[in-house]
Amino acid sequence: QKLEWAKLVNEKTVTADGHHVELAANIGTPNDLSGVISNGGEAVGLYRTEFLYMGRENLPSEDEQFESYKAVLEGMEGKPVVVRTLDIGGDKELPYLDLPKEMNPFLGFRAIRLCLEEKDIFRTQLRALLRASVYGNLRIMFPMIATLDEFRAAKAILEEEKAKLVQEGIQVSDSIQLGIMVEIPSTAVLADQFAKEVDFFSIGTNDLIQYTMAADRMNERVSYLYQPYNPAILRLVKMVIDAAHKEGKWAGMCGEMAGDELAIPLLVGLGLDEFSMSATSILRARSQIKTLSLTDMQELAEKALQMQTASQTVELVKEATAKK
Ligand code: PEP
Ligand code: MG
Repeated sequence: QKLEWAKLVNEKTVTADGHHVELAANIGTPNDLSGVISNGGEAVGLYRTEFLYMGRENLPSEDEQFESYKAVLEGMEGKPVVVRTLDIGGDKELPYLDLPKEMNPFLGFRAIRLCLEEKDIFRTQLRALLRASVYGNLRIMFPMIATLDEFRAAKAILEEEKAKLVQEGIQVSDSIQLGIMVEIPSTAVLADQFAKEVDFFSIGTNDLIQYTMAADRMNERVSYLYQPYNPAILRLVKMVIDAAHKEGKWAGMCGEMAGDELAIPLLVGLGLDEFSMSATSILRARSQIKTLSLTDMQELAEKALQMQTASQTVELVKEATAKK
C-alpha cells in the first residue's frame, strides 16, 4: 500500500470525477519541510509559529523570525504557505511573558487577544513576515478570531507595518492573502460577513469542536464530546464553506479532522477546497480522494447534515464508502 501511495507524490489531488482539492501540510518549524516535500504536499496550510517562541528565555527577534519564514517560503518554491500569527495561551505557555494564571486558559487571554494587547510582540512578527513575503507565496492567518472588530484591528496593524516598511524602502509582496482561522462558533455563524473582508478561511476543528461542544480538548473525562461527526459541527463547517464560496473565496481546514479518513468523504462533499494535515497523512488522503466521486459525496454530505447524532453519521459514511 505504501508503495502505491508513493507513486502519488507528484500528482494533483483529484476525485474520480475530476474535482481538484488541495492537500497541504501542518508544520511547526522549517525542519518539517523535508517531510512536506517527500510526501507531496501541495502547500503549507498551517505553519504554527508558536514553536519559534517556545522552549527559550526571551522573545525571538525580528531577524530570527525573518530567517525562519524565509526558509519555509523558499523551501516551498512558490507554493502557498499559510503562516499563522502567534497562538500562545491556552495549553501553550510562554513563561518569560509572566502572564497571570487564569481560571479558564482556553477561554482566556490567548492568540489574537494577546497580540492585540501586546502590540510590540505582534508588530515584530508582522514585520518579519512582511519582509519575508518576497521570497515566496505568503498567506497570513490570524488565530482565534471571535469578532469582526478583532479582524479589522489586526488587519489595521498589518497595514501600518506594511506602510512603514515601504517607507523605509524595504520590498514587500503586494499579493499576500490575509485570512482567519475559524475556531470559535461566533465566527462560523457570521462567516457570511467575514467572507466579505477576508481572503480565506481555515477551519480549526480542534478548537471549533472544543468550543461548540463546551468540552475541554485536554480533558480525558469529556473526550466523548469531541465529536467531529456531530451534525452540529458539520453544519457549522458547511456554513463556513458556503459563505466563502458565495464571495469567491476559498475555505480550508487545518484541524485534525481534515486528515481523518472518515471525515474526508464528508468534507469533499461539503465543498472544502484545502485540507491541511500532518505530512504523513497526505498520500493516504490523496489515494482515498481519487476513489471518491464529488457528486456522490455531495449526496452523502446532504444526508449527514440531517443526522441526529455523531454515531449515525459514522454509520452513514461507512456504509456509503464501503468497498463494493
Ligand atoms: C485547531 O484549533 O484546529 C488548530 C489547527 O489550531 P491548534 O490545534 O494549534 O489550536
Ligand atoms: Mg486552534
